Amino acid sequence: MNLLLTGSFDATERDRWRALLTQAMPQHHLVVADELFDRTRVSVAIVANPPPGSLRGLPALRLIQSLWAGVDRLLADDTLPRDVPIARMVDPALATAMAETALWAVLSLHRGFFVYQRQQRKAVWRELPQRRAEDLPIGLLGLGHMGRACAAALVRQGYRVTAWTRAEGEYDGRPDGGRERRDGVAHVHGPDALWPLLASSSIIVNLLPLTPDTRGLLDARCFKAMPRGAAVVNLGRGAHVVEADLRAALGSGQIGHAVLDVFEHEPLDAGHPFWRHPHVTVLPHVAALTDPRSAAAVVAANVQALVDGTPIAHLIDRTRGY
Ligand code: NAP
Repeated sequence: MNLLLTGSFDATERDRWRALLTQAMPQHHLVVADELFDRTRVSVAIVANPPPGSLRGLPALRLIQSLWAGVDRLLADDTLPRDVPIARMVDPALATAMAETALWAVLSLHRGFFVYQRQQRKAVWRELPQRRAEDLPIGLLGLGHMGRACAAALVRQGYRVTAWTRAEGEYDGRPDGGRERRDGVAHVHGPDALWPLLASSSIIVNLLPLTPDTRGLLDARCFKAMPRGAAVVNLGRGAHVVEADLRAALGSGQIGHAVLDVFEHEPLDAGHPFWRHPHVTVLPHVAALTDPRSAAAVVAANVQALVDGTPIAHLIDRTRGY
């Protein structure tokens, strides 16, 4: 089978992927986008946010396999072949990394470590009251592969976690979608359930996919619905947050601190006020990076499923957007 590797990565990253994918699938022929190859023979495109138009003119294409978990940028390319299934990256190593980041952010907020960081810069020796994990209810937006790993890590640490999803799903067997606990995580779903969740959460951790329904979700109304001084941890996508509204909420003290890994425009402009904001912690979109060592095996398993005619794992639903 002919496989095409294409993405917006540099030559070193591309060569690493090429080596590991070739090692995982020696029986297949892998080409990279900037080499000469026969476009009519490509069956699988292995992609990492390729430039728009990259997948045009591939008549034999049967599968698009993303190397990244989020597919919002890929789906924004309206030249994408319409009838070819798209699988996204789901790898336990990725979820573990995300859980580590979520736990670090929540622990740092809970124990005041960002405040102590500010105090250190001014040589201030001052003790904050020590709160218990159960004193800070956590609202988790999204309970997918990432959300579930984060919820498990937070529950293990003693936090009370309530997760919000689109549909009732498999998490609670109750038609009313009530606060049935499963694995220690309470679950609510649907637009109406968002408001009580915001109102009862000290920290909101966002792990939603970016879709037309979730774009701009975290806006002034949401921040106002949260308890004064609550914190926001955005590990999903930058466009979930209305940046101007967040700045205003931080300015008024309505939001006490924001940990932001993702931004509307990346990389974050050097002059962006978030860089120097005392109540914002900036990460350069590193909450969970795909690890090529394990991800190459995930890709190989899906390519093998295509060869065998068995179900392809982790296909996205294009109409839903994730
Ligand atoms: P996933 O498995 O597709 O799960 C998505 C979750 O969001 C599901 O629980 C889904 O609800 C919920 N959801 C979707 N639309 C919703 C809506 N309108 N209202 C309420 N809930 C909604 O995705 P994942 O693998 O956990 O990844 C989530 C996101 O994390 C990715 O899309 C990506 O943007 C981000 N990510 C970030 C990084 C980083 O480094 N910062 C790394 C990897 C991923 P249902 O259960 O009802 O479907």
